[in-house]
Parts: sequence; structure tokens; C-alpha cells
Amino acid sequence: VSSADADRPLSADAARLSREWLDVTLGIAADSVAWAGLRTPDLTFDARIVAGAAVNVGRLDCSLHTGTHADAPFHVSDQGATVDQLDPNLYLGAALVVRVAETGAIGRDAIRIALDAARVSAGAGSGGELPLARLLIATGSPYDGRSFPSAAPFLEAAAVAWLLELGVRLFGIDGPSVDPLDSKTLEAHHRIFEAGGGVLENLGLSDVSPGAYELIAAPIKLAGADAAPVRALLRRV
Ligand SMILES: [Zn+2]
Repeated sequence: VSSADADRPLSADAARLSREWLDVTLGIAADSVAWAGLRTPDLTFDARIVAGAAVNVGRLDCSLHTGTHADAPFHVSDQGATVDQLDPNLYLGAALVVRVAETGAIGRDAIRIALDAARVSAGAGSGGELPLARLLIATGSPYDGRSFPSAAPFLEAAAVAWLLELGVRLFGIDGPSVDPLDSKTLEAHHRIFEAGGGVLENLGLSDVSPGAYELIAAPIKLAGADAAPVRALLRRV
């Protein structure tokens, strides 16, 4: 905090709001689209109060890739861990939000520039420490969760390799995939999972400034599953 900032009075409201958890989750709704061609979610009820039951009891039938979710290694490999076997610590703790303008391939140069900008807004000087273990990337073309795009921003495999070397383990993006939508090799997914990392997709980062945050985004513990919805929350540090 610079002395100029310290001199400026901060209202109690502003101080409280700046420490509040931001909801960066794309929710699951009747019109959510997980992927082109997949059925939309179906929330039905096994019991209804209006029908004479003591309680309302819901049932959800939907793709596990609907809304904000974590992919497990089993998503891209039959030998991979299922979502219930993942370490929740990967999805909890210090995180860095960066913003790139890209609407297609996101390469190393774009991320390097975004990291420099995040370093400034996080108040870390050049050479300052950034919380790189969890990197959430806001792109120039965020998915709204409903109108499935024909193409979306994705991480180049070389950029993923470089970020893994820098210590990134959780890769978050505001689109449906860290790989191109038409990819059959899913190179970014494979590289991340082979390094013991994790993937968060469909984050809602449109209103989030670049910088350092705390993240809560543990996937629900679905036995044997390839992915699971998360409630993703960020708080400024
Ligand atoms: Zn997914």
C-alpha cells in the first residue's frame, strides 16, 4: 500500500466489500449447455409439498461438465484418477487471476504479459512473488454457459508446459475447455494431469480484476466420475 493510498479514507462498506467472497461460478440451470449436442439439465422432483408430501425432494440429471466444473484425469484417460480421488487442496488456497485479450490460441507471450499486469495489480514489484500454483485465466471470449460457441479460447500446449515449469498446478479458464473445442488429442488436459495438476472450466471471471486472491472451488465427491460441478469463490488478498 502506497502512502497516497493509506491517506485516502476507505469507507467501512468499501473495506468490507473488498474482503467479501466473489461468486465466480456459472450455475446449473434448465437452459445450461455443457457441450454442443448434449442434453440440457433436468431438475425434477421425487416429492413435492404441493402434491401432499412433507418436503420437496429434487433430482438432477445433467452432464458433469455443466457450468463451472473440475475435470478429473479420468476425463481423458481410462487409467486416470476419478474426481472423488482428487486432492481437494488443489482447489483451495492462493490463486492468481490474469486477463488475456485472446479469443483463440493463448500462447506463452500473452500469458507473460498478463502475468506482468497481474504482478502490478497484486502490488508485487518486479521479481515479486505471485501465487502461481493456481492460475485462473480470463479470456477475450468468456462462455456464458448457454450459447455454446463454435470455437473458444484455449491454452497452447507449449504455454501449458511453460506454466507447469513455473509451478502452476491448477489451470482455470472462463471457457468450456483448456483445449480447442474440436481437439481429439486434448494435449493441454493430458500435460496438466500428467503433472498432477487440475483443470477448472467455465469460470465466471468477467467482473474480476487481475491480481492475487484466495480460491475455494473443491469439486463435489462423485464416486467414479470424470468431472464434477464446483462452487467457485474468490476473495481478494
Ligand atoms: Zn470439462
